[in-house]
Amino acid sequence: MITLTLPEWILALLGVHLAILLVLSIFYVVRRLRWTPRRRATPFIFRCSVCGHVYLDRRNVPMAECAKCGNMNESIKDI
Ligand SMILES: [Zn+2]
Repeated sequence: MITLTLPEWILALLGVHLAILLVLSIFYVVRRLRWTPRRRATPFIFRCSVCGHVYLDRRNVPMAECAKCGNMNESIKDI
């Protein structure tokens, strides 16, 4: 059995609570990054300058990566 003094117990409880807060904050940050309102967002049209692939991206970003060749392209226009 582990015998801890009172300050060690306080430090251990503080560490456990900080670990729980860290895990929860990482969970909510990852969940917010993965969740995007795809139905409400207006898609942006991109045409690849290398391979000519036309694709949509619903994120409001100035440049998006082509799914076929990986080239970064600017948006043509939004719908
Ligand atoms: Zn491409």
